[in-house]
Amino acid sequence: MITLALSKGRIFDEALPLLQAADIVVLDDPEKSRKLILDTNRPDVRVLVVRATDVPTYVQYGGADMGITGLDTLLEHGSDGLYQPLDLQIAQCRISVAVREGFDYASSVRQGSRLTVATKYMAIAREFFAAKGVHADLVKLYGSMELAPLTGLADAIVDLVSTGGTLRANHLVEVEHIMDISSRLVVNQAALKLKQAPIRRIIDAFNGAVQRRMEVKA
Ligand code: ATP
Ligand code: MG
Repeated sequence: MITLALSKGRIFDEALPLLQAADIVVLDDPEKSRKLILDTNRPDVRVLVVRATDVPTYVQYGGADMGITGLDTLLEHGSDGLYQPLDLQIAQCRISVAVREGFDYASSVRQGSRLTVATKYMAIAREFFAAKGVHADLVKLYGSMELAPLTGLADAIVDLVSTGGTLRANHLVEVEHIMDISSRLVVNQAALKLKQAPIRRIIDAFNGAVQRRMEVKA
């Protein structure tokens, strides 16, 4: 049995064509069913529906053999015990620094001011501001980061951006592009040894689908 951990929503939806390329068809719709273990057309493959931030944990401890997780989540979690064979190039976005319109970020940085930064990405933000030599006081939030600069909780946020629509709607502007984000395949290292052939077949099928999609785009 191969157990694959996925999160509902964007990653699940964008992973379906990749699964299809590996001849895996999920039989339930996680948005409609309350089941957390989903059957597939293949008796040897099942899908666990877990919280996005829990995917690396399930795979690391062997609750799942493999999983699909955002690079953002992976960097925050750390990659101990995780083999990362593929960038699946789905759920693409970026991690950026944003501030309220009218806040002079550049001059704050130039003057060496302390910045209060709200984020759920504590590790990524800490490393980014340390490398820049900016003294950042980090405030951990779990969602709706955009509110922090509007309420005076923070000067800046570090958050995911895709179209920038949410920032604009909240009168925020992007002032730094920290890194590009996409989803990665992660595999439990022990499972990779014990179930090498079936796991390799899935990795190869995903890789083929990713390559074909790149050729179509190019
Ligand atoms: P929840 O929204 O349930 O609190 P979450 O934010 O962790 O959980 P998602 O919003 O499904 O879960 O995000 C999962 C992953 O998808 C993120 O870790 C990131 O890699 C990617 N992602 C998030 N937002 C976007 C976006 N707007 N565009 C593209 N990819 C995104
Ligand atoms: Mg979300």
